[in-house]
Amino acid sequence: MEIALVEGTRTRPAPGLKGSCPRCGQAAVAKCGSQLIWHWSHKGRRHCDPWWENETEWHRAWKAHFPDRMHEVVLFDEATGEKHIADLKTDRGMVIEIQHSAMPVEELKAREAFYKHMIWIVDGRPFRTQFELRPEPLPHPDSQLLDDVVFFEGLGTVFWRRSENEANPAMVLMHKAEEIGSQIQEHYQGHHFFKWKRPREVWLQATAPVLIDFGGHEVYRICEYQNPSRHCVQLIQKRALIEKNGGSYNESSIGVK
Ligand SMILES: [Zn+2]
Repeated sequence: MEIALVEGTRTRPAPGLKGSCPRCGQAAVAKCGSQLIWHWSHKGRRHCDPWWENETEWHRAWKAHFPDRMHEVVLFDEATGEKHIADLKTDRGMVIEIQHSAMPVEELKAREAFYKHMIWIVDGRPFRTQFELRPEPLPHPDSQLLDDVVFFEGLGTVFWRRSENEANPAMVLMHKAEEIGSQIQEHYQGHHFFKWKRPREVWLQATAPVLIDFGGHEVYRICEYQNPSRHCVQLIQKRALIEKNGGSYNESSIGVK
């Protein structure tokens, strides 16, 4: 943990400090060595929150874009008595979960149900080489261009028109995306198809927005075209995402490997 209570005050670890866990009240000891990032060590072998994930430099770099008051906020559901520590909670009440590891779908669903208004920031660096962004731009999934046009990945990005294939949609007339390149550009907001070898399925089943961080200045938000359903990603500037949620983008932390 980055935050423990010391005499009731949210405090970062410093050598020799003793505090308590803000969730369960158990003792926490500041660990300030040279091997691991400075952190509070929870009494007992495991953290009391089953959803807690050991923190890496990557977690800390994301938190550091946001003011301290938003870090590690304890949330309590009065109806169920459940209590969890959100990685970040913005002033507008949105939870940002900074997640390195995949998890069972049941846990994903439980966390989404508990936090409700939330997004996932996922560490994509472990599967960066399995993920390939297709270069062709695509229209926004809500764009009216899609009333008629259906895109998919064939030999490059191709499309067919509902209006041209009403009689036999099982065998459609295909076009190359370049044919309507200027229309696509008009409706382009950073969307692309992708190829993901051995995808982490759990992230495709999320209801809350999933934004994958492969390092660099952008995150890839998983999006979906409807009817027929197809996944795509939207490239979003980290700076825009962070500033929109009340943080300030600290460029020096993006180099974290
Ligand atoms: Zn605890």
